[in-house]
Amino acid sequence: MSSGPEEIAQAIARLKAGGVVAFPTETVYGLGADAFNEDAVAKVFALKGRPATNPLIVHVSGSSMARRVAADWPARADRLARSFWPGPLSLVVPKAPDLPSIVTAGLPAVALRSPLHPLTLALIDAADTPIVGPSANRSGHVSPTTAEHVRREFDGGDVLVLDGGPCQGGIESTVVSLLSPTPRVLRLGLVTPEQIAHCLGRIVDIGPAPADEAPVPSPGQLPTHYAPHAPARLVAREAVPALLAERSADAIVVVDTRSHPGVRTVVLPAEAREYAAGLYAALRRADDMNPGLIAIVAPERKNRDGALWDAIVDRLARATAPRP
Ligand code: AMP
Ligand code: MG
Repeated sequence: MSSGPEEIAQAIARLKAGGVVAFPTETVYGLGADAFNEDAVAKVFALKGRPATNPLIVHVSGSSMARRVAADWPARADRLARSFWPGPLSLVVPKAPDLPSIVTAGLPAVALRSPLHPLTLALIDAADTPIVGPSANRSGHVSPTTAEHVRREFDGGDVLVLDGGPCQGGIESTVVSLLSPTPRVLRLGLVTPEQIAHCLGRIVDIGPAPADEAPVPSPGQLPTHYAPHAPARLVAREAVPALLAERSADAIVVVDTRSHPGVRTVVLPAEAREYAAGLYAALRRADDMNPGLIAIVAPERKNRDGALWDAIVDRLARATAPRP
């Protein structure tokens, strides 16, 4: 059931009182607190078990609120915001001095975005404050794409969950840094590097920032991330029979765009957009079956949507990375 005006009013009161509210976006659900309230932001870190060295994205209603959080709002930021906000693009710009440094993990820059969800835009507008919003999951775990995922993630925690239905996008926002003359895509997502380059009329770099710009690694850049509890492996479809021969079929759940006879399979759509939208729910469903191994079949990547497949494969690689 979608939340209504009553729940929104409760959520606003909660934010103003320094509490934590989970909110829907077009990407994944976020775990929100007033970005200018240091104690409230600390609760978000604590609930997630997120290392203090990992900065949070700040959600704003639009460019004018972004200017309250940014020390500098360059013309390029304005241009991208005009084209892609509200939407799945986070912009890294110098932070305002009065934004608590806990938000940015001590970095001099902040990531900002305006989410495309009417409930959450109404919430930010009415609360009249920017809200931090990392994904509403325990650190390192699969991101939530339904309100139910969030409730299960923080069962017993003091989190008010706004229900805005299943997320339409399904993977996290694209993060682009505007700190150097050449924009740099730090995290792939639903807005493609090509769209950014086209909007700005210049080339963009892709990949982690050079060490002098980013002394601390960002959370999305950690090798293990978005991971189910069960061990997960990225495999070729042809390798599935051999896996089944190696272990009992009961011990395995396959995630693929096709079903496999004789083994439990969570089937995802073959088109990139639908695959992305369903991916995290599929990983959670596979996990719920308590397998010894989740075998994720590398998607076929149809010729279209190459950049979106890149973003998906990035998530799959981190979900299946060797665990420390
Ligand atoms: P999450 O909130 O879990 O979706 O992850 C936050 C993402 O935002 C990370 O992947 C970082 O790349 C990025 N991020 C947040 N704040 C900053 C910042 N101040 N500088 C660079 N990247 C950031
Ligand atoms: Mg996250």
